[in-house]
Order: sequence, then C-alpha cells, then structure tokens
Amino acid sequence: MQVTIFSARPYEKEFLEKEAPRHHSLKWVQEPLSLQTTSQALGSEAVCLFTQDDASANVLEKLQAMGIKYIALRCAGHDNVDLAKAETLGIRVANVPSYSPYAIAEHAATLLMALNRKVVLAQTQIQANNFSLDNLVGEELHGKTVGIIGMGKTGKAFAYIMLGFGCRVLAYDIVPPDLQKRNLFFVSQEEVFTQSDVISLHLPLNASTQHLINAATLFKLKKGAILLNTSRGGLINTVDLIAALKSGAVGAAGLDVYEHERGIFFQDHSGETLQDSLFEELRNLPNVLLTGHQAFLTRTALRNIADATHLSLDQWEKGEASANELIPKLEAVSY
Ligand code: NAD
Repeated sequence: MQVTIFSARPYEKEFLEKEAPRHHSLKWVQEPLSLQTTSQALGSEAVCLFTQDDASANVLEKLQAMGIKYIALRCAGHDNVDLAKAETLGIRVANVPSYSPYAIAEHAATLLMALNRKVVLAQTQIQANNFSLDNLVGEELHGKTVGIIGMGKTGKAFAYIMLGFGCRVLAYDIVPPDLQKRNLFFVSQEEVFTQSDVISLHLPLNASTQHLINAATLFKLKKGAILLNTSRGGLINTVDLIAALKSGAVGAAGLDVYEHERGIFFQDHSGETLQDSLFEELRNLPNVLLTGHQAFLTRTALRNIADATHLSLDQWEKGEASANELIPKLEAVSY
C-alpha cells in the first residue's frame, strides 16, 4: 500500500522503515497535514498522522476526494481527527492505543522530580559557578498525596511509580475502578482536587474534558499543589493556569503539552520570534517546567508505534478491520 507519512521525523524513520520494504511504500512528508498540504498524499491509499496533523472535516473531505481510504495514527490521542466525519466519508481510522504507557508515566515522574528538587535551576547555577543551596530546598514525595485523573494505561503506570515512592494515591476515573492496591484510593474528582499535593492528568481531550482545569477547578486545589499534564494541552485553560501560578495558588506545573502547541512543538524555531505571547508568558514563569510533547519518545515506544502502524496497514490491505480501529463516540474538539 502507498502511504504518505505526515509530520515525519528522523527519529521515527528507522523504526517505520524496518518493515516497509516488504509491505508498504512510504512517502515521507515533514510538514503536518493541513488543508494546504493534503496534495502531498496524492497517489496514496493511506495517510499516517501524528498529534499535530489536522484531520478536521474539511481536510478529510479533500483526502477522500484524492482517494485516501485509511488513516493510521501513530499516537494514542485522536482529538485531531473528526472521527464522525471520517466514518461518513468511509475513511477508516486506527490509532496506537498502547505503545508504552511507561514512557508517558516515567516522563510525568521526571517532570515532577525535576520540579520538586529544582534540578534545572541547580544545573543552571552550577554552570554559573554558583554552588549555593539557598534556593534549592525541595520536598520529599514520600508520604505526600498524589491525585490522578484518568486511570487508564498511563494513569495506572503513574500510580505504580508514585506508590513506589511511598505516596498515598487518590484516583478518579469515569469508569469504575479495576485495581486494588495498598495506599491507592478511588475517590471523587472533587476529592482529588482538594486533597492532593500533586495532580497528574491522564485522560483524553474531548468535548467533556476540554478545560477541565480552569479558574474554578484551580481554586479548589491545595495551595502550592503541583500540576502535571502529559496528556493534551487543551485539558488546561492556560490563561487561568498562568494566573494561578503567579498567585502561588498552584506551586508549580510540569507540562509536556500545551493548549496551542500546534505550529510550535515538534519543529526547530531557533532564531525565530514565537508569535504566541501566552506561551512566552508560560515558559518564562520560574515555577513551570515545559517539554515539547516528548513523553512518548522512547525507543520502546517508537518500536511499538511502528509495529502497530504496520499491523493496521497490513490488516486493511487484506480487507480486514484494524485491531485498533476507532469508532466515533465522543465528538472530538480541535485545539
Ligand atoms: P487510556 O484510554 O488508557 O486512559 C484514559 C482514561 O481516562 C480512561 O480510563 C478513561 O475512562 C478516563 N477518562 C475519560 N474521560 C474522563 C473524565 N472526564 N474524567 C476522568 N477520567 C476520564 O489512555 P492513556 O493511554 O492513559 O492516555 C491518556 C491520554 O494521554 C491520551 O488520550 C493522549 O491524549 C495522551 N497521551 C500523551 C502522550 C504524550 O506524548 N504526551 C502520549 C500518549 C498519550
């Protein structure tokens, strides 16, 4: 099958090409999919997309007119794809629901520990010959309460890590709990907000979760709580978070995703001035640690993504359904 891979990055090539010569012909396009770049997929039956690609209704119509029948997402989240429209147009969509929850959970833990023990500041000071410890006092995680919203694959993996640190874990999910562990308690969302020293988000972005973290919910947090988001930027109202970080209501934020990351993340903008004053404000706050949507970026995850992507393409080519086929449930929202 001829497949156009949008938002292609060098670090993925090694893994995706390993299987390709025998099965599929891959065309690599560095630009993200958008109304302007759809023509790059001409001649392909499938497109392969990542989080920054735009597969909204208008784009899907153009793709279908060009003969695209399949969309293989090489990520878990699918908030950038209008699934209902894809179904109407007869375009089949599959994601990679579980390529490595540990990659995401370990990254959330990395952000937390780096913030908590002021690792970035310590490194900056040491580079400047400043070996003073005066402003590097941190907290121990042992005995702290960690709240997790969304107890699917990455939420559970993060819970195990936090239990290993000796934390009390409070978890909330809309689906009834299926896990029993000492020091892990399934509670209401309200209790997660009001009782946690650390809150980590592990749920999808959709119409009901957009801006879950806003002025009203931030107001409920314990003063000085640390907020972690490795899921999707749109879960947080960034304007409200910045206000809470400035006032000290939120102690610190570790963010791998940003509400308006499309067009900023995944590219080298060195030497340019970013045209996003909100992002500038966020990244300049001393109590914010940002990474550019790299929580998934481990060799294990890249290998698993490539395997699952090829499996979907193989199954479609044989006329079968993909094992990871997506069906529209909740209306997706755009960033
Ligand atoms: P998952 O589907 O295994 O788990 C999501 C959980 O959220 C489910 O248990 C679901 O019931 C729960 N949920 C849904 N709506 C909820 C709500 N309103 N309140 C509470 N819980 C709710 O997904 P996952 O693998 O754990 O991934 C979670 C999200 O992380 C993905 O949707 C994706 O957007 C994001 N993600 C980010 C990266 C990254 O690199 N930063 C990588 C992978 C996934």
